[in-house]
Amino acid sequence: MTDLPRADRIIAECRMLAGMSEEHGRTTRRFLTPAVAAVHGHLRNRMLALGMTVTLDAAGNLRGLWRPDEAGARRLVMGSHIDTVPDAGAFDGVLGVVMALELVTSAKANSLPLAVEVIAFSEEEGVRFGLPFIGSRAVAGRFDSKLLALEDAEGISLEDAIRNFGLDPARLDEALVDDEAIGFLEIHIEQGPVLEAEELPLGIVTGIVGQTRCELTFNGHANHAGTTPMSLRRDALAAAAEWILAVETAANESEGTLVATVGKVKAEPNAGNVIAGSVRLSLDLRSERDQVREEAVVGLLDRANAIAARRKLTCHTKTQMQQPAVPMDEQLTAVLAESVEAAGFTVRRLPSGAGHDAMVMATRLPTAMLFVRSPGGISHHPDESVIAEDLEAALAAGELFLSRAAGTLKL
Ligand SMILES: [Zn+2]
Repeated sequence: MTDLPRADRIIAECRMLAGMSEEHGRTTRRFLTPAVAAVHGHLRNRMLALGMTVTLDAAGNLRGLWRPDEAGARRLVMGSHIDTVPDAGAFDGVLGVVMALELVTSAKANSLPLAVEVIAFSEEEGVRFGLPFIGSRAVAGRFDSKLLALEDAEGISLEDAIRNFGLDPARLDEALVDDEAIGFLEIHIEQGPVLEAEELPLGIVTGIVGQTRCELTFNGHANHAGTTPMSLRRDALAAAAEWILAVETAANESEGTLVATVGKVKAEPNAGNVIAGSVRLSLDLRSERDQVREEAVVGLLDRANAIAARRKLTCHTKTQMQQPAVPMDEQLTAVLAESVEAAGFTVRRLPSGAGHDAMVMATRLPTAMLFVRSPGGISHHPDESVIAEDLEAALAAGELFLSRAAGTLKL
């Protein structure tokens, strides 16, 4: 315990919610499972106790609206997700909901002329249906009804999962966020090591990085490891090794604008005494700047072809996914930065290497995102944690942000 009762209470609440799980002894909470209903039960009571109007939309998002007495007050939307990966930590997602409720408590105490809608998004991780952001897609008006046919591992369709939870898939359109909302703010743990390395409690997210995923195959010739002279080999694995180092070098030389990973290698025939005849590799490239990423893809694929030609191999590439970067709203992010500074903390801007509900919400509303330091950079793991002082810092910045949103944000 610390002398920060609000932060201690938030940490205790997140840890208590982590006990609402599909599995005994570890936290696993997939979309619209009974564990989600248990979390809804808790959050609904919290919202009602704060005087909020509570609804559950057809995508399973639990939504609490607090309205001040002033008529025509602007509405700010806040929130994050309450689903988890298997064997998760206690703070990824849930923290953003509990922090938002704490900020409503404080807005109420200060009679802030601002309406606040807190959304506990039902799905962000993509675990049950292999489709992430089901909750925020519906709120942002980006839910394609074709997705209702997706099935989980037990053969239950997304449509039936919604029905089985007592909701009506025909009413998904009604989940769309209200037109009077002026913006969306998500508070989330960083899930990475940057803030900790710089000993900073908070980070201001500039955008969610864009991503390209490719598969690349070098084809050479499998042959005897003892009888084939070095000069007569067409070794696909040696070519792959040369290219993997080129990928790492390109990212190292990008001055922090690009991260690049070869995480998967499959050699054939994969035997100790046989020269590899073919090797299949993955490439994952991410950058906040689409042009940097696109140029890196072209450069690295050219490099693979050059390596293959020199070694008398062939090289095939297949692009599996290309997703542009999503910048956060400039004005709202500037207000967030001002708030962090006014609260007495360093303004550290950084991109998010992971996807978040904020990425989907940004397609509908001006969106900003605040990161809280992740001790050890650990996330998606039971050891995930937060520091009470950091939560207090985020609350102080959040309170100033809400005051500014009530008064100074242009519509
Ligand atoms: Zn998350």
